Amino acid sequence: MSAVLRFGVDLGGTKIEVIALDAAGRQVLRRRVATPQGNYRETLRAITDLVLTAETELGCSARVGICTPGAISPATGLLKNSNSVCLNGKPLLEDLRQSLQRDVRMANDADCFTLSEASDGVARGAASVFGVIVGTGTGGGLVVAGRLLAGPNAIAGEWGHNPLPWPTDEERPGPVCYCGKTGCIETWLSGPGLERDYLHATGSALTAEAVAARERQGDPAAAACMRRYADRMARALATVINLVDPEVIVLGGGVGNIDRLYHAVPRLWGRYVFSDTVDTRFVRPLHGDSSGVRGAAWLWPADGC
Ligand SMILES: [Zn+2]
Repeated sequence: MSAVLRFGVDLGGTKIEVIALDAAGRQVLRRRVATPQGNYRETLRAITDLVLTAETELGCSARVGICTPGAISPATGLLKNSNSVCLNGKPLLEDLRQSLQRDVRMANDADCFTLSEASDGVARGAASVFGVIVGTGTGGGLVVAGRLLAGPNAIAGEWGHNPLPWPTDEERPGPVCYCGKTGCIETWLSGPGLERDYLHATGSALTAEAVAARERQGDPAAAACMRRYADRMARALATVINLVDPEVIVLGGGVGNIDRLYHAVPRLWGRYVFSDTVDTRFVRPLHGDSSGVRGAAWLWPADGC
């Protein structure tokens, strides 16, 4: 073994992917395997084999960061909130440390996304970055001075289960959320939230993508739905700006493919931000679907390895 590389591992529902980054952040290897379905022990073994095989191939030892769909509970050390349910309640981080015989770092997909974009993505060089993945849910992460904010509860940046700010009478009390509350930001801004709003207004069931496409074709009901959506996103992000005032907000996930939001939301958020001007950049990610695996590698610094 010679040099030390950084490995990022993305543990997804269907595939496990590893990349190796050199000290300059260049990708020198990328491999993937199918995720064993519903079996924790086999998942653990698949991750371990993937890492050890990549190390053998490269002739290097590596620092390993893992991107997971859930979070490690600081109270118990067990994984929680993962949609790969066989992982929930398991000591994934501790087991990987043992099977790989080294320290391992772990963060959820929204945190890895934000770290990736802050490190060498669209927000490179920004002092503070708020990253959001808006798709089936509304995850968020916060990077300040190049470092991911963790916090004692492991929920820094998790804005999705705050209530939708400045609700109208029609928006109160809001939809019931799986977290047990009503009117959470996630119930409005997630892809299913947008679809429900369109269904409620028109009686027609369309995907979020289809609503955005209809708006581009000049459909008035879709345009009205997207206006409501952009205003809700502006309100939700205004509270983040009021609290953190990030230099850059990066919008990823399926909803991040809706182009008009990058212009529409900043035109609206000035009504809600407590400032005469709002210079926050609102941008699409550079690394797309690779953000999770790249951010996992960036959990380790390039130097001091
Ligand atoms: Zn909620």
